[in-house]
Amino acid sequence: MRKGLLIVLSGPSGVGKGTVCSVLRQKMPELVYSVSATTRSPRQGETEGLNYFFKSKDQFQDMIARDALLEYAQYVDNYYGTPRDFVEKTISEGKDIILEIEVQGALKVKEKFPEGVFIFLLPPSLDELKQRITGRGTETQAVIDHRLTVAREEMSLLRYYDYAVINDEIDAACHRIQSIVTAEHCRRERF
Ligand code: 5GP
Repeated sequence: MRKGLLIVLSGPSGVGKGTVCSVLRQKMPELVYSVSATTRSPRQGETEGLNYFFKSKDQFQDMIARDALLEYAQYVDNYYGTPRDFVEKTISEGKDIILEIEVQGALKVKEKFPEGVFIFLLPPSLDELKQRITGRGTETQAVIDHRLTVAREEMSLLRYYDYAVINDEIDAACHRIQSIVTAEHCRRERF
């Protein structure tokens, strides 16, 4: 059986990866969504096992020690990681999976799965990104400032990706990603 696509959707914090992914889930129900583990506390409305697997630092360290994570990264004092087994099982069953992760983790996935499809989501501008990070209203000023510094550094890593998608409008961005997935399925190398 032909393997499924491993699709990585990445980009700076606040660019709208989470929103784009949740709209994609409706538009592309055949796409499997990888649920990450994290040590950060749940935000209002977040559900265990649907948005994240919420872990203590000890539990997360244990996952690292068991090599249970395909990649992990520390981001603003918390750990985030992709459970390995689920990803490998999904693609070996011929299904496509999408990972919504920050850029350091995405580069680690690229080392292990160079055949993956790496998509970088871009804000229309840095000013717009600043507004989005500030406007979320769930973080302290120190966290916002740190996220903006990280975001500027992250933008410079675009060159490692296969595709750049500007998130100017959610539906348009999702449409571009759908087109990328369709094109990847038609790649000569897959036949
Ligand atoms: P948030 O706390 O806003 O949910 O996520 C913070 C950042 O962590 C976002 O950029 C998000 O994409 C990223 N992230 C979520 N899950 C993972 C993961 O499993 N691995 C990595 N490396 N980053 C993740």
